[in-house]
Amino acid sequence: MASRQRPDHKDPEERESPLAEVKKTFKPHRAMAEAGRCLFCHDAPCVRGCPVGIDIPGFIRRLSQRNFAGAARLIRTANPFGAVCARVCPAEVLCEKSCTSSGLAEPIAIADLQRFAMEHAVARAGSASPKPVPTGRSVGVIGAGPAGLSAALLLAQEGHSVTVFEAEQEPGGIMRYGIPSYRLPKEVVRAEVEQVERAGVEIRLGVTVGKDVPADSLLSSFDVVFIGAGLGKPLAPQLPGDEVAGVISAYSFLHHVSDPDGHGPHPDIPDPLGRVVVLGGGNVAVDAACVAKRLGADSVTIAYRRTQAEMPAWPREIEFARQEGVEFEFLISPVEVIGADGKVIGVKVAHMRLEGTDESGRARPVPAGEPDELIGADTVILAFGQGPNEEVFRMFDGLERDARGMVWVDEKTGATSVPGVFAGGDGVNGGSTVVEAVAEGIRAARGISQYLRGATATS
Ligand code: SF4
Repeated sequence: MASRQRPDHKDPEERESPLAEVKKTFKPHRAMAEAGRCLFCHDAPCVRGCPVGIDIPGFIRRLSQRNFAGAARLIRTANPFGAVCARVCPAEVLCEKSCTSSGLAEPIAIADLQRFAMEHAVARAGSASPKPVPTGRSVGVIGAGPAGLSAALLLAQEGHSVTVFEAEQEPGGIMRYGIPSYRLPKEVVRAEVEQVERAGVEIRLGVTVGKDVPADSLLSSFDVVFIGAGLGKPLAPQLPGDEVAGVISAYSFLHHVSDPDGHGPHPDIPDPLGRVVVLGGGNVAVDAACVAKRLGADSVTIAYRRTQAEMPAWPREIEFARQEGVEFEFLISPVEVIGADGKVIGVKVAHMRLEGTDESGRARPVPAGEPDELIGADTVILAFGQGPNEEVFRMFDGLERDARGMVWVDEKTGATSVPGVFAGGDGVNGGSTVVEAVAEGIRAARGISQYLRGATATS
């Protein structure tokens, strides 16, 4: 059997800029060769591994028959952000992981094939779908991220009038402001957002719900409100000394780098970055570390209090970070940020060991009893996650939350405890993948349509 094909990474000298996309796409003959390895399984396990249920064997068969546009259309019917997800999905723990159960030693490179198909689609964008008959119903969407835009697109395609309110100056949410462009170029996000606008969705940028538009006016102006506002402020455990210049949250760091006007100075981002220490072990920590490396940091070290086996970051991203020159220090917990003359000069850390499990079921780090150590640093990036979006959630009286403070929704429809209010995305799941947010946006769109049909029947 032919061996698995994967597109190459660009060599550093092939990159047009420090944050230019790293991975190349398949050439057509290699895509077709890889598609030819697929077993086109009955009851394909890969589809069960995909949160939006793309017909994976279906699109791969079309690729194998050189029907590239047909493959792209099939992907888009299940996922309006097919090009984005082809780049940022952790396929190795989703569809490709399930693919190995088909009997293949090496899973099909599903994400790379999806990217190939979608690049074909983007290159030929512009075919307008027929305009739906207006229903006279309206939906207000908070947040132009993957959940909000996916819900908005589906609802507009059904003839509802949809308005999206976005606090940022550009739409895309985490796709635009959180994921570094070497993994997800901004133009890929822009192209997929444009299909939402072409469907008739109005996206109002620079509008903060709660400040520029009161929540009660949303509830009175629209038949339904969808909350797709994502997460709130970065979580920051009290770390003595973290007020000195040179300490910044990973969220603020990545946002600043992604901002169209953000390449100027930032008071908490030293220029040059010098020695960077990233505290945390999730994908955001890894993204921030890789960006810092690409922006010319002398050294970048991720310090994590457990071992690599417990890191929440995906294995492929950790491997990529190592290739980029990011170093890892495990079983290290920060004690204090050390500053001099108002600037960071290092992080005092305690050595840990693992003992038993904590309430989340993960190995519990406890002090190893060794003397603390000072890691020299000029920039410290805090990547401890983000909390609930209190600014938005608090505006809705009676909005039920889960134990983490995230919005509770009905798992079939995405309906919240407030009549006429639906939700999806990170603000519900607490921070997951883009494809999960898309899936939740789609779920809510179906729930909203059902709700509006019921409202129509009784009005
Ligand atoms: Fe093809 Fe793998 Fe899906 Fe089977 S599980 S249809 S081999 S991609």
